[in-house]
Amino acid sequence: MSQISENLKAVRTKIEKAAQQWKRDPQDINLVAVSKKQPDERIDVMLEAGQRVYGENRVQEAYTRWEGRRDQYPDLVLHLIGPLQTNKVKEAVSLFDVIEIVDRPKLVKALGKECKKQNKFPQFFIQVNVGDEDQKAGVAIDELPDLLQLCHDESLTISGLMCIPPFDDPPAPYFALLNKLAAQHDLKELSMGMSGDFEKAIPLGATYVRVGTALFGLRPSPSGA
Ligand SMILES: *Cc1c(COP(=O)(O)O)cnc(C)c1O
Repeated sequence: MSQISENLKAVRTKIEKAAQQWKRDPQDINLVAVSKKQPDERIDVMLEAGQRVYGENRVQEAYTRWEGRRDQYPDLVLHLIGPLQTNKVKEAVSLFDVIEIVDRPKLVKALGKECKKQNKFPQFFIQVNVGDEDQKAGVAIDELPDLLQLCHDESLTISGLMCIPPFDDPPAPYFALLNKLAAQHDLKELSMGMSGDFEKAIPLGATYVRVGTALFGLRPSPSGA
C-alpha cells in the first residue's frame, strides 16, 4: 500500500476513534483532503484510494487541477478554503460545491449576484476571525449577525461556520467559541481542525475537518505553509 493510502486510512481511523470517544457518529465528521500545492501524482493516488472531497485555496490552481477530472469522478466535492477576490467569483461559483470563506459584505453581494446568474447554488460557510487577528481573513465576531442577515437577503444558504485559530495558541478554546457562535445562530456545520489539531476539534463539534499534510505529506513549495 502506498504511503498516501496508508495516511488516509490512519486519518480516517483517528477520526473514528475520536468520534467514538466523544459519543459522536463518525458519519457526521467529513474529511476534506486539502490538496492545495500538492503534486498531481499524489492527487491521483488519493483519488484511487477513494477520497472524493478536496479542499483548495486558490481558484485558478483548483480550476486547472480539477476541471478536467470532473468527467472521470462525477462524485467529486470541491471546497474553497482560501481567500476569494470578487473578480474570481464567477470561476469560484462555477467550480466549487462548497465555499467556506465568505467573510465580508462585498463578497456576499457578488456571490449572490453570480449564483443567480449561473443558477448554481453552492453550499456556503462563513469564516470567522476567532482570534481577532489583524492579518487574518474572516468576519469579526461582532459583525457576524449582520453578515448572516445579508446572506439571507441575498439568498445565500449558510450551512455553518469555519475558522483557522491563531497559529501560536492552543486551538480548543477557539473551537469551542466557533461551536457557541454556530449554536447561537442555529447553524449545523462546523469546519475546524487541520493536520495538527483535527482530533481536538471533534469533541468540540467539528463536522468538517480540513487535513492536508497528514494525508499528502509536506507541500513541496517553499511558501507551502
Ligand atoms: C492549508 C490549509 C489546511 C490544511 O493544513 P494542513 O496543516 O496541511 O493540514 C486547512 N485549512 C486551511 C484553510 C488551509 O489553508
